[in-house]
Amino acid sequence: MLFKKGYSFLLISLFLLSFTLIASESFNNNNELVLTQTTPLNNLIRCYKSGSDGKKIFLIGCIHGDEKEGILLSVKVLNEIFAGKANKNTLICIPSVNPDGNTLNTRTNSHRIDINRNFPAKNWTLVDSAKLKGDKKKYWGGSAPLSEKETRFILKVDSLYHPDAFIILHQFLNCVQYDGSGRALAEFISGITKQKLLDNIGYKTEGSIGSYYGDDKRKEVVTIEVPENPSDTLQNNIVRALVDVVQKGY
Ligand SMILES: [Zn+2]
Repeated sequence: MLFKKGYSFLLISLFLLSFTLIASESFNNNNELVLTQTTPLNNLIRCYKSGSDGKKIFLIGCIHGDEKEGILLSVKVLNEIFAGKANKNTLICIPSVNPDGNTLNTRTNSHRIDINRNFPAKNWTLVDSAKLKGDKKKYWGGSAPLSEKETRFILKVDSLYHPDAFIILHQFLNCVQYDGSGRALAEFISGITKQKLLDNIGYKTEGSIGSYYGDDKRKEVVTIEVPENPSDTLQNNIVRALVDVVQKGY
């Protein structure tokens, strides 16, 4: 009986979560959904675009499934950009590239692979997953770079739109960090969010977006780390910084 009750609770929670995600991804009329991708668990990854001028800013709200705050923040950014008029820069935005991980509440995707270790960066390293213990399993980059649909979708968006800058939201630290040529963009954002500015996150991230697009391709890559329970002020400042990046430039 207890098991049944627990199971029903889990099902209700999953239902409510998917409803929240669908509800939070509803937009105003003038949105442009430009590209979608079905995941192994039959969820949909959505890519939106607004404008075609200036620099192309690629915002990824969530890549680690249990770091959901960025979905909400990037949807707020999209709504403001879609509601506004002319912007200096173009916004390309994927609120979540890991909806399977969101459903499962895991860092990894449904194949237990860390998407942010699955990019074909020069520092991508093959690791025997059987040798990974405990928490380290969550960082496994797969048996080959680009083995995952989610990773390949990011490369597809890149090949279609050639973004100049990549901004990725993560949790649960509290800082703004840059790779490649992202310093000016990171300074602009941290100037508004008042978060600590870092040139290095402090641990190895082989096969990450920062390694591939930042270190290897010298693009502007900025990571915004959002703490577990961000204050309303911090949330508003992050949204304002991102809207300003697109509307006014940096
Ligand atoms: Zn993360």
